[in-house]
Amino acid sequence: MRAARIHGHGGPGELRVEEVPDPEPATGELLVRQRATSVNHRDVWIRKGHPHPAYHVDLPAILGIDICGEVVAVGDGVSGFSVGDRVTANPYMPCRSCVSCRRERPQYCERFDVYNGAYAELATVPASLAIPIGPDVPDEHVACFPNAYITAWQMLVTKAGVGPDDTVFIWAGTSGLGCAGAQIARLAGATVIASARAEKLDVLREKVAPDLAIDHHGEDVAAKVLDFTDGLGATIVFEHIGQATWGRSLDMLASGGTIVSAGATSGDDARMDITHMFVKQARILGSRLGTMDDAIAAARHLSAGRFAPIVGSVLPLEDIAHAHELLEAGDATGKIIVRL
Ligand SMILES: [Zn+2]
Repeated sequence: MRAARIHGHGGPGELRVEEVPDPEPATGELLVRQRATSVNHRDVWIRKGHPHPAYHVDLPAILGIDICGEVVAVGDGVSGFSVGDRVTANPYMPCRSCVSCRRERPQYCERFDVYNGAYAELATVPASLAIPIGPDVPDEHVACFPNAYITAWQMLVTKAGVGPDDTVFIWAGTSGLGCAGAQIARLAGATVIASARAEKLDVLREKVAPDLAIDHHGEDVAAKVLDFTDGLGATIVFEHIGQATWGRSLDMLASGGTIVSAGATSGDDARMDITHMFVKQARILGSRLGTMDDAIAAARHLSAGRFAPIVGSVLPLEDIAHAHELLEAGDATGKIIVRL
């Protein structure tokens, strides 16, 4: 089969499309004929060699989190899936043996791993992570789902408890995670405010349709949010940017509101006025990926056609390095899909 692997860490040129042996499904695994995947910031950090253990892979490695394809072989000991089933998969892999896992709190697993292997024509996937997907959802939408929507579901539904009384502010509403967050907040009945850079505002308004769209470079974001909410602020701020936005996230937050964070694409070294934080009685919640509970709940809405991710570009596997360049440059609007 053809697959994109890295043999070392560095620039997009480290991604090599090459012929590798077809994988065989081990006990408990499915073999999936991949149709599409997407590129995520996580893939870029692994390629570059991010020092955090969560980004470690043994080399050479096939990167890629997002599974979209059909089952072509079933390993021993698998029940509930058959050849021909259309599936995606949750990339979060708790160890199932640490104290948190044994306490049935897999989101706090100490030794979790994250799935890699989607940049390939064939991918082996643990059946315990696989999720059936209805036939009518476009491949591109399924490929956008696992990393973005499962993560956003845990952030907003499981952690922040979003509901119809909330005003949710979403940074970068045309990004994969931002768009997922906005659509989930909308599904929960919340009022949605979303930001984008000026040249992406039209796409934001058309595809995400927030109640208010803000240019996060050209406008005073916190002032606009406070004005729109009669001075109260957003009850939930959806954070995945970090250093460049954290202070403003706190400024726009309502008293008793929640900042929920699952990323720091602009950097980790965020500053915050601590007095402002505790006087507001802010809740600050961290979140990472999502459990199978989050994944299956979110996938029901994907299969029902309620999620329409913004598809920015669709590229062949041969252009995987260019796909990484587009993601890193931040110039693409929406998810970058790779067809297989
Ligand atoms: Zn564990």
